[in-house]
Amino acid sequence: MHGRRIEYCSRKGVFTFPALFTHAKEPDASVAKVCSQPLMGHFAYRLSHIATAELAMLEEIVEEVVLQDMPDCRKCPLAEKDGTLRAGPIYRARMSLQENTPCPFYKFVWSNCAPPRGRFFAWLLVQEKIQCKTNLRFKNVVDDAECEVCRVAVESPYHLILHRTIATQFWAKLGISVHQASVSQLWKLDRPPGVPAQHYSTFLLLCAWQLWKHRHDVVFRSQESSLLRLLLSCKEEAHLWSYRLLRQDKEVADAWCHVFCSNM
Ligand SMILES: [Zn+2]
Repeated sequence: MHGRRIEYCSRKGVFTFPALFTHAKEPDASVAKVCSQPLMGHFAYRLSHIATAELAMLEEIVEEVVLQDMPDCRKCPLAEKDGTLRAGPIYRARMSLQENTPCPFYKFVWSNCAPPRGRFFAWLLVQEKIQCKTNLRFKNVVDDAECEVCRVAVESPYHLILHRTIATQFWAKLGISVHQASVSQLWKLDRPPGVPAQHYSTFLLLCAWQLWKHRHDVVFRSQESSLLRLLLSCKEEAHLWSYRLLRQDKEVADAWCHVFCSNM
């Protein structure tokens, strides 16, 4: 390696030894400079446990470095043999990482029979990014985050979908305990008797979607909050969504309609 500034090495350090890199006195120091004095002198006192472990690994690497008086030559493990960087191999490497650490909510959000707008809502919901007042307040769109329905709590995704009075009444009617639930793991809600295991994710999305729409009715259309109306809208939506199921699965939607009707 040449003695000139080898920024690639320091940038690589961000990813390889992230804890140690935060202690670097000179993040863009050249390899030659780093090798010219004891390694510890390049880092601010005192290192965290993780950074100390990373330093030990880095010392082993630096010991093997042999500097040569040649032009700066940078190498990237993702580059082709001729040194060209191509997007394809980098994309495939990134996607293989994704397979090893799969997205926890991918299946729940995208592998179901809900209409696209319902899935998109679910994608925002499990990440707690729906346009409720806590999120709007964070973006400075509104002045306060108070729930406009009950005015006793902030309007967070958790409050809207699981915790506000009508939501707790609604889930209780369906026989679903939300006592220790979170919207970011909505798929973990226990399935009650009477609700088929098949398409259970779709059923949960339908419920969350209707709770969200019910909030719009109250906030934007000045309607009274009503558990009966909520259950009725769920039943109507279940009927519509039934056309999205395979013909042989239609009885699943019939069971949903029965669950909503029997609790009105
Ligand atoms: Zn409220």
